[in-house]
Amino acid sequence: RARDADRGDVLLFSAEMQSRAERRLRLEHDLRGALAQRQMDLVFQPQVDASGYLVGAEALMRWQHPALGAINPTEFIPLAEESGLIHALGMAALEGSCTVLRDWPAAAPRLRIAVNVSPWQMLRPDFVESVAAIQLEFRVQPGALMLEITESVFIRDAAAAAATVRRLHQLGVGVAIDDFGTGYASLASLRDLPVEEVKIDQAFVREMRVDVPDRFIGAMIDLAHALQMYVVAEGVESEAQRCMLRELRCDAFQGYAIGMPMDATRLHDFARELPPQVA
Ligand code: C2E
Ligand code: MG
Ligand code: MG
Ligand code: MG
Repeated sequence: RARDADRGDVLLFSAEMQSRAERRLRLEHDLRGALAQRQMDLVFQPQVDASGYLVGAEALMRWQHPALGAINPTEFIPLAEESGLIHALGMAALEGSCTVLRDWPAAAPRLRIAVNVSPWQMLRPDFVESVAAIQLEFRVQPGALMLEITESVFIRDAAAAAATVRRLHQLGVGVAIDDFGTGYASLASLRDLPVEEVKIDQAFVREMRVDVPDRFIGAMIDLAHALQMYVVAEGVESEAQRCMLRELRCDAFQGYAIGMPMDATRLHDFARELPPQVA
């Protein structure tokens, strides 16, 4: 009987593996047409500073699959990277974000949009030129566009990544290190680069105690400040976390406790409902 049970487990396991492989194959296949069929959407998650003022928003991609429903970028971005579609997808995210910047009402608080950039996309030789072209086309103000890159890009090709960061800076495009602290690049390797911002990974925020100051996160924030970087915490899910991070002198906050990812119209409403900035 024990052996029958084992066999059952094996059968179940392989059935699950098979359906997972099937889903993957299907997504890989369908991804090709998804952009052209306008199944990709951008949502924007607000970031606020210590006084609650909107300082920016992160653009996050969503795939509305006609049969499988909403699919998370953690599932389709790796597929896009393997197939090379990440370049087209990345450009669509940049253009969609620049459209929102262009159409953002002049009367609304100024907006800065952060767009995620995959290492593959960033290390392409024509990457900076295409960012420059989009910036020109949409008349994006310097400082209005941020690019979020990950530490892993420095592992792949440190020299090329550094050169790209410098050229983006010259274009007036800010660079943020996403998921900071989870990769292998240390702050020391970033110290000579014009990196404007670090985003503290949500894993640190999740595990942070809210009753006593977390010395490790505090030290990360202080070090980033010593290097003139702006610090955004991601994955802020509670008021207690926000308070503690503010106490640790974190500059800005992003997460469900501040606002869910939302479409551009709702982001505009969100900005209007916030307290006016005190100069
Ligand atoms: P990320 O850049 O670190 O984005 C933050 C992720 O955390 C987003 O997941 C966001 O929805 C989620 N999040 C926000 N607030 C909270 C919170 O309070 N609690 C928790 N648990 N999660 C929160 P999402 O949208 O599923 O995106 C996942 C990742 O996919 C992103 O991580 C980013 O690396 C990548 N991604 C998304 N859009 C794009 C894109 O246009 N291009 C590229 N290359 N990557 C993208
Ligand atoms: Mg990001
Ligand atoms: Mg992140
Ligand atoms: Mg992340």
